[in-house]
Amino acid sequence: MVEAAVAATEALTLAAYRDEVAGCTKCPLSKGRTQVVFGSGSPTADLMFVGEAPGFHEDKQGVPFVGAAGQLLGKLLAGIGMTRDEVFVANVLKCRPPGNRDPQPDEIEACEPHLWHQIELIRPKVIATLGNFATKLLSGKPLGITRVHGVEQEVVLGGNRVVLYPIFHPAAALYTPRMLEVLEADFRRLPDLLGSATAPPAPVVELVPAPAPRQEAVQLGLF
Ligand code: URA
Repeated sequence: MVEAAVAATEALTLAAYRDEVAGCTKCPLSKGRTQVVFGSGSPTADLMFVGEAPGFHEDKQGVPFVGAAGQLLGKLLAGIGMTRDEVFVANVLKCRPPGNRDPQPDEIEACEPHLWHQIELIRPKVIATLGNFATKLLSGKPLGITRVHGVEQEVVLGGNRVVLYPIFHPAAALYTPRMLEVLEADFRRLPDLLGSATAPPAPVVELVPAPAPRQEAVQLGLF
């Protein structure tokens, strides 16, 4: 009963913040957007995903990951017995960059307080960063996703201890079967990470990058 009341209050707080962010004009992307894509899912999610930025369909619908990459994300979630409603999905940028170009440093700097506050309000146990932009921003380190995917670390974000878990961006896996296999394998560890994230916090460890196999060294913006 008390838990339900707390959850309802948290949902209202996040909804109030979404309404506030809907009018954001902190960077020039506000001029070209159809709407702010705040994020979607459970306001009390244990698992949060952070992608890069809204694309064409996300900008039109106001919901992140509704295109082909989003379909794959849904399938990967189904594979571990979860649905989009149980998790929270957001992006580094809340507005669509023109022509889906990469986020620019000034745009990330302007937008990141929104993400930090979302994390503060949702208090997820595990944050899976999808691809390079989210991974570098949330880890605070320049190491790319090809080096660090599948390596969890405990960090403090939005004032809370959280397990940060970098994985490939689903859009990248759409075109590269080998990357899809790796993404699926990394995804399969999520239930364990969610379980272990409820245990007493383990010591904060340094992110130890795995040696990058040569064939994975191909870099696109997403990875
Ligand atoms: N859709 C999103 O919302 N974010 C991405 O990073 C890619 C597609």
